Amino acid sequence: MFRKILIANRGEIAVRIIRTCKELGIETVAIYSQADKAGLHVKLADEAVCVGPAKSTESYLNMKNILAAATTLGCDAIHPGFGFLSENATFARLVETCGIKFIGPSGDVIDKMGNKSAARKLMMDHDVPVVPGSDGSVHTVEEAREAAERIGYPVLIKASAGGGGRGMRRVYEPEELEKEFLAARTEAKSCFGDDDMYLEKLILCPKHIEFQIMADRFGNVVHLGERDCSIQRRNQKMIEEAPSTALTPELRDQMGQDAVRAARAAGYENAGTIEYVLDKDGNYYFIEMNTRIQVEHPITEMVTGIDLIKEQILIAAGKPLSFSQEDVVLRGHSIECRINAENPKENFRPCPGTVKGINIPGGMGVRIDTALYQGYQIPSSYDSMIAKVIVSGNNREEAISRMRRVLEELIIQGIETNIDLHYWILHSEEFVSGTFDTSFIENNLDKLVT
Ligand code: ADP
Ligand code: ADP
Ligand code: MG
Repeated sequence: MFRKILIANRGEIAVRIIRTCKELGIETVAIYSQADKAGLHVKLADEAVCVGPAKSTESYLNMKNILAAATTLGCDAIHPGFGFLSENATFARLVETCGIKFIGPSGDVIDKMGNKSAARKLMMDHDVPVVPGSDGSVHTVEEAREAAERIGYPVLIKASAGGGGRGMRRVYEPEELEKEFLAARTEAKSCFGDDDMYLEKLILCPKHIEFQIMADRFGNVVHLGERDCSIQRRNQKMIEEAPSTALTPELRDQMGQDAVRAARAAGYENAGTIEYVLDKDGNYYFIEMNTRIQVEHPITEMVTGIDLIKEQILIAAGKPLSFSQEDVVLRGHSIECRINAENPKENFRPCPGTVKGINIPGGMGVRIDTALYQGYQIPSSYDSMIAKVIVSGNNREEAISRMRRVLEELIIQGIETNIDLHYWILHSEEFVSGTFDTSFIENNLDKLVT
């Protein structure tokens, strides 16, 4: 087993990983930027190293400094969390070159699935349904236009290196294609340093359904059921739940088996997620694989009783999966609300600041993953997500009432947040009935934020 793990991340996910390490008796090293000296992850880890200035390209993305910290302090593994270097194949390879275990898949597997256009091809070769789209990348407006004519409007222009809902544009009419293609490509270049683009048919009013996968190096691949992440703003998730109201046991089996086949096709090891969109007629299509732990992993932990970070560490240490497909039994219902420091009334503009006061709810079936504390100054350099509120209940109704109660108790003073928006959604007819799709927030925003 590992003796000491460096956590190459910050905020709530760094805290989340440190917690499991402590329970496993593994020492922890936190890294932090100059803006994060007072971060909770720094206080909770056994050791902490400053790796650079606030700007993430010079700190949390600074491979050289992170590797120097890990080797100097004698770490035998690195957990990348999500975002930052978690899907960086070069980093995964460099870590292994230093004789340190990267807790995640190999650099080659990250490469294979990280390029979304290439991943589509691999899925097609293995009979996993994908959204109808361009045959590989499109390099020019003309190529994009040809592909769009063939696929049929509306289409979605996407970045092969995309993530976090960036580099993506919908096109409903041929006249809009050129403008949207160029805008998406510019955004992709600035966000990911890569402007390789591809096209997909825009599936109208779909649900986002994803499957959690766990795979060990002995060829065992298991899925842990689905998460419904259809409540999104700007193609980014805001509320997730497990299980989904849209799946029958048969559909769950079929999508789960395809997810397992997809992971096998990639030669996958460790935790990963297969994302699908599901249309109104029950057709599902692969959109991408995330080769890392996911923000919303806690709801899967709540319904399966399995600590996914612990499994990630055990798999990386060379142990076989501690459970089989038959052992995975989904119990009850879980919901997560992502609490962001942002103003929904101003197009979700980030609103960092100082937490003047905070009340963290508790009670049965409640889990709050956060790095906030009273007096904490939220830096402006990073993602606006500041807390994850997770509840579980015996059934969906109980989970919904519990989440409403928890949102009433949750108080964060001094900054703007999306807590009220969550509260409204949890009371909306669409959410309660489960009939919502990915366009829900967009279509109801004026109602929701007044
Ligand atoms: P999920 O919710 O499915 O885990 P997200 O797409 O919301 O994934 O991303 C998780 C976190 O990682 C977010 O904080 C997001 O801003 C960040 N992120 C996602 N993709 C990228 C990327 N390509 N580059 C940098 N950060 C990313
Ligand atoms: P990212 O890497 O940014 O997470 P995804 O490919 O996972 O990008 O897409 C993000 C979101 O955009 C999805 O959750 C879904 O809501 C929407 N989306 C993606 N592809 C399609 C599609 N072909 N049709 C309709 N919606 C889509
Ligand atoms: Mg995605």
